[in-house]
Amino acid sequence: MPDLPDLPDLPERSGTPYPHLFAPLELRCGTLPNRLVMGSMHTRLEHEAGGMRRLAAFYAARAAGGAALVITGGFSPNRAGRLDADGPMLATQSDARAHRPITDAVHEAGGRVCLQILHTGRYGKHDELVAPSAVRSRINRREPRALSDAEVRATIDDFVRCAQLAEAAGYDGVEIMGSEGYLPTQFMAPLTNHRDDDWGGDAQRRMRFPVELVRRTRAAVGERFLVIYRISALDLVPDGNTAQELDDLARAVQTAGADVLNTGIGWHEARVPTIAYMVPRGAFRFAARRLRAAVDIPVVATNRLNMPQQAEDTLASGDADLVALARPLLADAEFGNKARAGRAGHINTCIACNQACLDYIFRDRAASCLVNPRAARETEPEPRPGRRLKVAVVGGGPAGMASAVAAAEQGHAVTLFEAAPELGGQFQLARQVPGKREFDETLRYFHTRLRESSVALRLGVAPDAAALQVEGFEQVLLATGVRPRRPAIEGLGHPSVLYYPEVLSGAVVPGARVAIIGAGGIGFDVAELLSAPPAPQDPVAAFIHAHGIDTGISVRGGLRERPPETPPRALWLLQRSAGAPGRRLAPTTGWALRAELQHRGVQMWGDVRYRRIDDAGLHVEVDGEPRLLAVDHVVICAGQEPERGLHDDLQALGIAARLIGGAREPAELDALRAIHEGVAVARALGTDGAAAAGAA
Ligand code: NAP
Ligand code: SF4
Repeated sequence: MPDLPDLPDLPERSGTPYPHLFAPLELRCGTLPNRLVMGSMHTRLEHEAGGMRRLAAFYAARAAGGAALVITGGFSPNRAGRLDADGPMLATQSDARAHRPITDAVHEAGGRVCLQILHTGRYGKHDELVAPSAVRSRINRREPRALSDAEVRATIDDFVRCAQLAEAAGYDGVEIMGSEGYLPTQFMAPLTNHRDDDWGGDAQRRMRFPVELVRRTRAAVGERFLVIYRISALDLVPDGNTAQELDDLARAVQTAGADVLNTGIGWHEARVPTIAYMVPRGAFRFAARRLRAAVDIPVVATNRLNMPQQAEDTLASGDADLVALARPLLADAEFGNKARAGRAGHINTCIACNQACLDYIFRDRAASCLVNPRAARETEPEPRPGRRLKVAVVGGGPAGMASAVAAAEQGHAVTLFEAAPELGGQFQLARQVPGKREFDETLRYFHTRLRESSVALRLGVAPDAAALQVEGFEQVLLATGVRPRRPAIEGLGHPSVLYYPEVLSGAVVPGARVAIIGAGGIGFDVAELLSAPPAPQDPVAAFIHAHGIDTGISVRGGLRERPPETPPRALWLLQRSAGAPGRRLAPTTGWALRAELQHRGVQMWGDVRYRRIDDAGLHVEVDGEPRLLAVDHVVICAGQEPERGLHDDLQALGIAARLIGGAREPAELDALRAIHEGVAVARALGTDGAAAAGAA
């Protein structure tokens, strides 16, 4: 096998590579063997058939994989606090009995597990939502009803009962969710608490609700039962809390009996991205560090920590006592074990894309993971090995790499051909986009897997059908990918016309005025690349400065006005469809991309008709009015066509060939579908399920 490119590789280590991460910690519930917490995240598995059994397997896999403490997704203590009309609750004995499979499974796997108590307050997507005051959130069309004094007290009772039920269900503790803008946060912030009674009016009374939650819960549960309070360490909303108020709350919940202070960053309605790929790794460590100085109990750092070295640095520098990783453990359940064994290069790293986790949840689907199709599917049976085949995979992009590895695991004899000198396909373009360097981790992961697999790799080779026949391949998987669509626009051959691969790859640097035709994911990526400032020396400092984040939190919410930016060129991002571009982007990242481009002054136009391209520029019609965009370059990002040339030739020779990824269906193609389809088709090879696995 030729050498794999040595691009994104990680040294493997022996001994104790991350001594702070694997230092034990004494807590009320016993000794945690390490500092790795699986942070809470919704999966929506509880909505699926056999949901609690699936949740049990999901959490147990993470505990077995090395997470010392698992925190479940949020369960509401009462109806008003549900996420939506079907949102999960823990409010009765019968609810508690349903949790036994989870606690038993995690304990059998050697871990500990806490239930998160989550009251959504004004974020509830149902008609019974309540809040400290009747102040609607800008991300919810429903207005909450203000709780009466008696209802506030009853809500505290509900939290306490929920904690007692969690204890009865075998949990090791509870986490009271007081960040991300949920109910306790709504009591804390002047933005949402306009009361003037025992529960609002000044900082002391605004913090009373969360402090009472902790005090009453501590008093009602057993001596060895953990009470974790998740505090909003940085609100990132106007009229949020100041540093002084946050420190006072932290100390007050400690006095009230909290054992651990977990942290959260930003309310859900914040206009600053907090977890997506455009946030540099470790960007919010400062917020945990600030709070740690205020209390004596262990503090947990969160947000954009996705590799063991960062976790180690966070702990070694004294920024926190524990680290909570949620999506990274969705991406790789074995994260902890691999890190402890010095095998960080084997970790399937979360690339913070949100595509198969949070975006799925937003669309009412159970979460999975772009880079790990098995995530949250732990109870699905492993495929039975089929008849052993000699398989060629043609194309070394995401679909090809994923299918080659999966087919080899099924026992097939696999050769992977890639015409380019390196693997990666569209990933090689995506990784050039600012913030998308995380794709390097996926490339590194596949390199590691391929190196260890029996896959024979042929880089720089594009076989024809006859060559594949001569070598006797019984099955060919065609992951030959896509080529850019050439739209029917007069003047497309003009020298000012560029296609997105040459721009993203850096082969051509466009001029000072650029029009982009097509405002899908790739059009936005190109606009992001062409409008971005030069890559900063210190990405965290640059991010904090660009978003107006006040690390000292001397202003309310820790948020100042964003400083203006001077983009390197004037840009027009165009589409034919009516409405503002970007509406079809992914729900949890699209808003941040649109906001960023707006901030940089990129003109985003819908309802555009392209007339022609000539020496004067791009001639368009907008609202029936002809306009000339006097641009230096026009970049075509108008979707893709499949590369399927080999398919017909193979069929003519009678060789079984399957199209996967973009070669099968370029519309809506992304890495998620490419990887999931590649794995599904490979796993079904040689079995009766082959035809059902989605290939042509
Ligand atoms: P896309 O999302 O389908 O967008 C293609 C764009 O080209 C649309 O704006 C479309 O809008 C325009 N278009 C289509 N046919 C055209 C024609 N004949 N003439 C002129 N304009 C035309 O495709 P993409 O941007 O190439 O992205 C491919 C896939 O990768 C998508 O599934 C995308 O979601 C994914 N992706 C995702 C991300 C991410 O960050 N999540 C990033 C990059 C790519 P009009 O028809 O309105 O003009
Ligand atoms: Fe991470 Fe993306 Fe997987 Fe979500 S889907 S866990 S963000 S890699």
